[in-house]
Amino acid sequence: MKKVRVRFAPSPTGPLHIGGVRTALYNYLFAKQNYGDFILRIEDTDQTRFVPGAEEYIIEAFEWLGIPFDEGVHIGGKYGPYKQSERKVIYLQYALELVNNGWAYYAFDTPADLEQRRAQAEAEKKTFQYDARSRGGLCNSLTLTPAEVEQRIHADEPYVIRFKYPENSEILVHDLIRGEVRINSNLLDDKVLYKSDGMPTYHLANIVDDHLMEISHVIRGEEWLPSAPLHVMLYQAFGWEAPQFAHLPLLLKPDGNGKLSKRDGDRLGFPVFPLLWKDPKSGEISSGYRESGYLPEAVINMLALLGWNPGTEQEIMDLPTLVSLFSIEKISKSGAKFDLEKAKWFNHAYIQMAPDTLLLDLFQKELQKHNIHPDTDYLLKIINLMKERVHFIPEFWEQCAFFFVAPTDYDEQVIKKRWKPGTDVHLKKISDILSSVQPFNKEKAHNLVMEYIQGTELNMGQIMNSFRLSLVGAAKGPDMFEIIDLLGVAETQKRIARAIETIIVN
Ligand code: GLU
Repeated sequence: MKKVRVRFAPSPTGPLHIGGVRTALYNYLFAKQNYGDFILRIEDTDQTRFVPGAEEYIIEAFEWLGIPFDEGVHIGGKYGPYKQSERKVIYLQYALELVNNGWAYYAFDTPADLEQRRAQAEAEKKTFQYDARSRGGLCNSLTLTPAEVEQRIHADEPYVIRFKYPENSEILVHDLIRGEVRINSNLLDDKVLYKSDGMPTYHLANIVDDHLMEISHVIRGEEWLPSAPLHVMLYQAFGWEAPQFAHLPLLLKPDGNGKLSKRDGDRLGFPVFPLLWKDPKSGEISSGYRESGYLPEAVINMLALLGWNPGTEQEIMDLPTLVSLFSIEKISKSGAKFDLEKAKWFNHAYIQMAPDTLLLDLFQKELQKHNIHPDTDYLLKIINLMKERVHFIPEFWEQCAFFFVAPTDYDEQVIKKRWKPGTDVHLKKISDILSSVQPFNKEKAHNLVMEYIQGTELNMGQIMNSFRLSLVGAAKGPDMFEIIDLLGVAETQKRIARAIETIIVN
């Protein structure tokens, strides 16, 4: 069997959509399962759509995700260069080869000529297509004499090279996910292979590079399925063995209505890009999984299951497990709906499994944003106490800020509901009880405080919530005695005193 070599071939036209990340992931899983190579190729032949920073973004995204390439624009390899704009010289000779063997032709029609044809066809309620039926009436090397063609090229007249589909022939695409897809060549437009700006189009460059880079399988998004017949024909025209194709189902909006678009994410409250992206032109910011506090392992696991499953109930799978279980046959034909709750569930699960050192590092980064640099042991204790409640890394700060900063204001609603005249007296008593537990022991303190509250026949919720309000500033957080244990009795007492001083009710 031919060595498995697959590629991820993004165009640097903006941030990488999460659907693209899934395409790359499936390529990676397939490559590694077959001891093959996984390649990053940048397809930047359309210079008008080039966006500065996009290539670097793509590379950084895969670094963050922990999906490594074997060859690519950033690491080189023996099939390089891996950026199409650096391979420009290669493509013309292949375009000319097709002209010479009758599979392509020069076309000199100006954009205005073509526009006029289109308008004319529209007026007759038809659609204009540059194809077997119309090409005979257009300005190209099939209608001009060789001398005229020569002369125009010599005079630097702009031209394109178009593919010449055979008339009325059936093109067969074998797709590993969709089976056989057939299309009649009469339905297809003689696609431009080489543009007047001296650059190949995506189609030509893609095929030439896949061939020269010995790509064995092309695994890509469904949006490229309409291009597959042309690609199959190009392989035939060159006399090259075509790779096997697999077109992946779309990633859909959560309600299943249409493709998950760039705009959906921030509109619906989840990122559609791996990393935060700032548009260099408009300055518009789109959120990223990394900055939103997802762990890369969770993102990978979640994405793997959007369109594929191992055929069992198993959901938690790390990268090596995915490599061993992945199979193209189990990729579904229909689109996969993005599910935010599931994404949260995966992230929560991976936070529980993450090593303390990792959570510590991420938590410290959150704290640095607030200029807080606590002791590592203290942080580890907080992490272990809180991680069960946390779905995203920034919540370590949002839910735990009171461990570092004493509250200065207190939730009004809770005050209204819980803090009654006389509450201060009871909290002072609790403060004294805490002093009496020497050395401090959370179980013992718990029992004594409970005993006191029960003895006073007071409402437990009222006192405990007021107590919590003093320490946390709100009615949230983990077990009170765990909090006291971490804050220390002295700090707890300070906070009680401050609350009593600040909260005045009558
Ligand atoms: N450059 C194409 C893209 O941006 C690659 C399509 C393919 O994999 O053939 O998605």
